Amino acid sequence: MQLYNLSHPEQKVSFSDAVRLGLGQGRGLFFPSNIPKLDNIDAVLALPFVARSQFIIKQFLQGELADEVVDDMVAKAFEFGAPLVQVDAARYCLELFHGPTLAFKDFGARFMAQCIDALGDGQPLTILTATSGDTGAAVAHAFHGLENVKVVVLFPKGKISELQQKLFTTLGGNIHTVAIEGDFDACQDLVKQAFEDQDIRQGLGLNSANSINISRLLAQVCYYFEAVAQFQQRHPDKQAVIAVPSGNFGNLTAGLLAKAMGLTIGRFVAATNANDTVPRYLADGQWLPHKTVATLSNAMDVSEPSNWPRVEACCEVMSWPLSDLIGTSFSDQQAIAELLALHQGGYLSEPHAAIAARALAENLTDNEAGIFLATAHPAKFKDVVDEALSIDVPLPPALRQVANAKCLAQSMPVSFADLKSYLFTTVAAGK
Ligand SMILES: *Cc1c(COP(=O)(O)O)cnc(C)c1O
Repeated sequence: MQLYNLSHPEQKVSFSDAVRLGLGQGRGLFFPSNIPKLDNIDAVLALPFVARSQFIIKQFLQGELADEVVDDMVAKAFEFGAPLVQVDAARYCLELFHGPTLAFKDFGARFMAQCIDALGDGQPLTILTATSGDTGAAVAHAFHGLENVKVVVLFPKGKISELQQKLFTTLGGNIHTVAIEGDFDACQDLVKQAFEDQDIRQGLGLNSANSINISRLLAQVCYYFEAVAQFQQRHPDKQAVIAVPSGNFGNLTAGLLAKAMGLTIGRFVAATNANDTVPRYLADGQWLPHKTVATLSNAMDVSEPSNWPRVEACCEVMSWPLSDLIGTSFSDQQAIAELLALHQGGYLSEPHAAIAARALAENLTDNEAGIFLATAHPAKFKDVVDEALSIDVPLPPALRQVANAKCLAQSMPVSFADLKSYLFTTVAAGK
């Protein structure tokens, strides 16, 4: 697959280069030069999830990786399903939280780990990433135990939930975790400085594994096909409206790519919390990010969504007017009200999915039915959910197992010199 840089279209790269580089010149995003179009959608939808996902990914990677290699990568990455659960007469929920770290990011991170493993030249590689929660856990799990790859996760000390932290600080082995005595921005800043440091870049073979990596998006395309395959069994005559809880807009980009490949989807609703840059932009055409505000759906606390240029690029190449996209934003109070309503109707959810559920309800017309995506397990946001619903959400096995495990993270002040010395003495030396 050839990709081009959306900021510098003259830069064209292969899939393996795009995976390795992450970002292009001038921090531009890579986008496929051609989106493969499927002419046998019904036959594709009839396949089981893993076989169908292998087929879809091969449309992109043909010529670059042998078919057997891709089949193996997809089979290893997609070891869990994405069930579609009926919530009420018109709404279905695609549960994307059945992976090892209970968030949809497991799909993308695990496939990216397989790509790095398959495309690597045997040189040691270090994945350095900052996390405010879900990404760190998904990336750490996905790369745990891979040869030649070391992972370093920086997180803000005391600022993420105990359970969330336990999911990645207890792994050990090739996973190194550092509690930075600062906030998330300080962690991200340290990562940026490391990427600008030639000694570190070259000495450690640095890669970021963040959400703009194209491999993560390809993996996410596959579960939109799974959603429609399950939806059509119940509503063969309907096109699903799909509501996506959005932060950096990678998830929505993947949905648009699926539609561009020929998947029948009615329309998309982008649902955000109070960080509403996109809904405001879709309403008045003005791109005016406000300062990011903290909400109960904190994985969507993003005011400058990094994948937005890909959303626009996809609409442009497909000649879809941007006005076909619906943007809606909801307050914490509205999210909690929807969480309660869902629970009264018999469905246990969490604030991110609740926002999408409400966005869907408000945008369905009489004869329509639709899907909202559930991006995290309710137990991952146990504090909020327990309080809102006056219940005690039981921990799923993945969280129960780590709840009492020992945290192996090391503490560090916000100091680039300390980080650099740690990277060379502890991480590179394999101590
Ligand atoms: C990352 C995340 C999101 C936002 O997804 P994007 O692809 O960045 O739009 C939504 N919900 C949860 C639980 C997340 O972890």
